[in-house]
Amino acid sequence: MTESIRQIRIAREQARKTLYEFLTASASLRYSRPTARIRRFRTAEDQILSAVAKKINPPPAACECLKAELNRGVHRVSYDQSRLIIQKDPMREAAERLCQYVELTHICGPMHTACKLEGCHEIVFGGRGNKRYCCPQHREAYWTYDRIKQMSKYGADYFKDRQRKTRATKKEQKKAKLRQGKT
Ligand SMILES: [Zn+2]
Repeated sequence: MTESIRQIRIAREQARKTLYEFLTASASLRYSRPTARIRRFRTAEDQILSAVAKKINPPPAACECLKAELNRGVHRVSYDQSRLIIQKDPMREAAERLCQYVELTHICGPMHTACKLEGCHEIVFGGRGNKRYCCPQHREAYWTYDRIKQMSKYGADYFKDRQRKTRATKKEQKKAKLRQGKT
């Protein structure tokens, strides 16, 4: 089944909101002491989001960690005469938001990207889709790396050849202009 444009738009709005809620829940864990459990969860969430952005399978350990956190308890349920208030384990709260977000990306695509530098697992948020690196250092490293790759692929001739082509196109354009001027 394909979703309508309207459904995709709604999903995108929801995904942005859910991602924000997840990040807030995840960031609040940072303020508590980073226990082994918190560190494990933060690694797992990075691996899962990175896998979603790259459309690959996350490590099984990341899914196991997520499962364990989803199984954490509900501490308290109360009603304030208008809404039910359900107090859950904070890490379960974050895990649930993460699941909701990943589900929505199935419809509208991810609202985050993974750093383009090979071997880096950092997640990149925001930047209206034009942000592709986790930090300026990795942007620079990527371009340096990419250039070296191109050099070895085409040899040093690659750049000479490209210069030649650019010059040839410019010459053509000049000729065309002159021709236009005559008629
Ligand atoms: Zn990076």
